[in-house]
Formats: sequence, C-alpha cells, structure tokens
Amino acid sequence: MDTSPRPMLPRALHRPGQRFGLFLVGASFALLGAGMLTQAVTTGFVGVLLYAVILVGGVWVAFRSCVMGVRIDSTGLVERGLGRSKVIPWCASERVTLGALASYSSRVVDADFSLIRSLHTAHVAECPDCA
Ligand SMILES: [Zn+2]
Repeated sequence: MDTSPRPMLPRALHRPGQRFGLFLVGASFALLGAGMLTQAVTTGFVGVLLYAVILVGGVWVAFRSCVMGVRIDSTGLVERGLGRSKVIPWCASERVTLGALASYSSRVVDADFSLIRSLHTAHVAECPDCA
C-alpha cells in the first residue's frame, strides 16, 4: 500500500484588497523616487542615494504585493509576506502564523484558518511522522 501523502491540489489564499493597496503604495513610492532621482543631480550623492532607496523600496513593495498570500500544497504552506517567504511543512504547521493573511475581516481569516486546520488534520491522519 502506498503510504505517501495523497497529492493535494495546490491552492493560494490571498487578500485582493490588501494586494491592490500595497501595490498602489509601492508604485507611488517607485514613481516618486524615480521622479526625484531625475532631478537629483543638484542634490548631490546623499540625495541620489535617498531617492534610489525610495525607488527600489517602492518597486520591492509593488512586486511583493503581487505574490503576497499563502500557497498551500501537499508539502505544506508557503507564507509570502512583504519581506520574505516562509516555508512551513505540514509536519511543523501547528505553530503556523499567518501574518500574510492579516485582514480586517476576521470572518475571512477564520474561514482560511479552518481550511488550513482541516488540511492539517488530513495530513496528520496520513503522515507517519505526525501520528
Ligand atoms: Zn507530518
């Protein structure tokens, strides 16, 4: 009999509103930084550096906002936050924190958590390491 975990359809949880808002913020800062950078010839090195940081930071936030959320597949969760991604295998997912899913609507978060909890329960039932 095959004891390996059943393949799970990969799915992704995310907050479209949160993504859109962060994308706007990031894009605004990127445009602001780029605009100031073109006029920074007069402000010297420190000014150029500052505007470059604003530009790069804005581009980074805009980029991360497009991938933020939690990806779920048969190996576990991948939490993609604003700064970095965190891989949480199902075997370790009892200590899961879902900062990337932070939302003003606790009802939506509860639904996501109960989905993750039920998937974790299904994993524990089949995983020899978690038994
Ligand atoms: Zn396990």
